[in-house]
Amino acid sequence: MKGLVTKTHNRFYEITIVDRGQTYLCSPKGIFKRKEDPEYRLPVVGDEVTIELLKRKQRGVDGYIVDITPRRNSLTRALTDKRRQRVMAANLAQLFIVSAVVKPGLDWGFIDRYLLTCELAGIPCAIVLNKIDLLEGDRVDALPSIYRDLGYPVIETSVKKNLGIDRLRDMTAHGISLLSGASGVGKSSLINQLVPEANLATGEVDQKRGTGKHTTTYSALVPLGDDAWLADSPGLRDFAPPPVEPDQVRFGYREITEAQGHCRFSTCLHDSEPECAIREGVSQGIVTEHRYKSYLAVLDEMREFHQSR
Ligand code: GDP
Ligand code: ZN
Repeated sequence: MKGLVTKTHNRFYEITIVDRGQTYLCSPKGIFKRKEDPEYRLPVVGDEVTIELLKRKQRGVDGYIVDITPRRNSLTRALTDKRRQRVMAANLAQLFIVSAVVKPGLDWGFIDRYLLTCELAGIPCAIVLNKIDLLEGDRVDALPSIYRDLGYPVIETSVKKNLGIDRLRDMTAHGISLLSGASGVGKSSLINQLVPEANLATGEVDQKRGTGKHTTTYSALVPLGDDAWLADSPGLRDFAPPPVEPDQVRFGYREITEAQGHCRFSTCLHDSEPECAIREGVSQGIVTEHRYKSYLAVLDEMREFHQSR
């Protein structure tokens, strides 16, 4: 029987049989320890899994997870030492990068790091600019249009004035969505607008506990509708983009990925190589200065990280 991992807690997993609305508590069978791909050694929220049910509950579980269906995409986070990574959620329909136009203000470099993570992981992503009620003028600035031109949805929201919330609700109407971003930008406030009834109330309680001394990680898919879920846990909300190899950074910038076939060298990192189509593109306005500078900054950061290892 196939099901969806809707909650993980220690080594226990809640598996929901979506079309029947039934949920079973399962644990993974030993098979996972032998999996060659370490990413598939543990199920995560969003995983589609095959379960075998027991005739009756044994050791507190209804059955066992015997297989994980190959993931369409997955979000990984760097562990504290930043050298190892762990899969946190799978099969995301969309990741919303939440930031606030004021308090604390926009950090496009940070947004670009999220976009990089999503591009490399194959996760569709959108940018949420929250707290627009605090803006003095009527526009954020010219930068959001750069991102819209690149094909990223940019949604301006205000929880206080109920702006953009309907659009966000429409955009989260199918599949698994995730809202992530720095602390204080308004993620919890937005989530409370999206999640019907008291579903989140219990989640909030667990989350408070999750930030305590227990190292157990807790993640859940909170139902938003028939086929709509919100992946949520403290770790997912405050998720920080993991470091990548320097030569991967260029694949995190759509316009650079597109144009780099015209560089003289296929290995071109677009900073000092001769006959570089990207530097040429900047002078022609095909690649914006804003994004190119961001690219160079992230490239430097990743080089430093890899040299320090
Ligand atoms: P989180 O840390 O990202 O989950 O942020 P919270 O949802 O806890 O919000 C942080 C603070 O920003 C709280 O004081 C919220 O009331 C406030 N806040 C959230 N959204 C908005 C908004 O759209 N406008 C204004 N003015 N304040 C907001
Ligand atoms: Zn180049």
